[in-house]
Amino acid sequence: LITASVAATKGRVLIVGATGFIGQFIAEASLDSGRATFVLARSFYDTPSKAKTVKTLQDKGATVIHGVIRDQEFVERVLKEHEIDIVISAVGGAKILDQTILVRAIKAVGTIKRFLPSEFGHDVDRADPVEPGLTMYKEKREIRRLIEECGVPYTYICCNSIASWPYYDNTHPSEVLPPLEQFQIYGDGTVKAYFVAGLDIGKFTMKTVDDFRALNKSVHFRPSCNFLNINELASLWEKKIGRILPRVTVTEDDLLDAAAENIIPQSIVASFTHDIFIKGCQVNFSVDGPDEVEVSDLYPDESFRTMDECFNDFVSKMDIDRRKGAADEINSTKNHVVEAFPITAMCA
Ligand code: NDP
Repeated sequence: LITASVAATKGRVLIVGATGFIGQFIAEASLDSGRATFVLARSFYDTPSKAKTVKTLQDKGATVIHGVIRDQEFVERVLKEHEIDIVISAVGGAKILDQTILVRAIKAVGTIKRFLPSEFGHDVDRADPVEPGLTMYKEKREIRRLIEECGVPYTYICCNSIASWPYYDNTHPSEVLPPLEQFQIYGDGTVKAYFVAGLDIGKFTMKTVDDFRALNKSVHFRPSCNFLNINELASLWEKKIGRILPRVTVTEDDLLDAAAENIIPQSIVASFTHDIFIKGCQVNFSVDGPDEVEVSDLYPDESFRTMDECFNDFVSKMDIDRRKGAADEINSTKNHVVEAFPITAMCA
């Protein structure tokens, strides 16, 4: 009864893209916060892992609605029928403009108290990566302008980099162990960035959704405990694995060449890597404008998971993989099918 009444006082949330990399963290955090959580997902899944994600969310209490955001009438009906208060989109980098219809539906319905578009990276009005990353930022900017023109109440989440080793070849970072052979150090490895655990992206995002202090603001995630450059990150990982690895320099020109190759999505990530670790796009400004706020100023008593803890998770994963590898060897007569994690352009 208490849980039901808590859920009733909190805004009802619709999450688009909950089967995706970032969307899963948001959906889990929404459920953990005791909110009525609705998930918009396709009626069929292109990978077993997506079906599993949806099942897990359902088991935790999410209501799954089948559909996509390309049909305005359908979206309006969903928003009305389920009395949605808060909409969070985590559609992938290639689908940013799909949100146009979502914004128009939110405007038409007129009852949504907060919309969080698919951002979850840098402040796209400030950052200026080279192409092809720039195109994604232009699309994110376009969605921002539409939201503002429509008068839709919003929060833009600028959570900087996901806590992991920042590969520039667009592997989904939390799925891949940090290097075990050699480090690729971008430039001289001294440009700092902010790293945020996926769980914290979810947790803090959900805190903002009905916080009036985040209304019509960009919320920047800058955890001081995770403010590190690549050299520091490499040393931390070396301590965890108890080995020193060779360091290979990836120069600014290497990154620009990889971006110029225009292989999607890898070149997009190369352009973001250049922006972060050469140009310093996460650190070359202060958060002091009237329409922006730092998440630690909003919730000073809440701690972030540290990179140290996140690297411990990777070490545990290594141990599990090692044990699994040994078991697989024993069962080597069986065929093992490894499902590749689908990769889309991201903002690392
Ligand atoms: P994913 O590609 O992993 O997931 C996208 C999700 O959106 C999927 O669930 C997909 O469903 C769904 N989706 C796509 N189009 C539609 C549609 N038209 N209607 C309904 N659902 C749709 O995305 P990511 O998690 O990688 O990216 C999400 C955001 O986070 C992006 O803005 C990205 O830039 C950012 N990001 C930031 C990172 C960081 O380090 N800060 C890292 C990664 C991403 P389906 O699969 O069925 O199409």
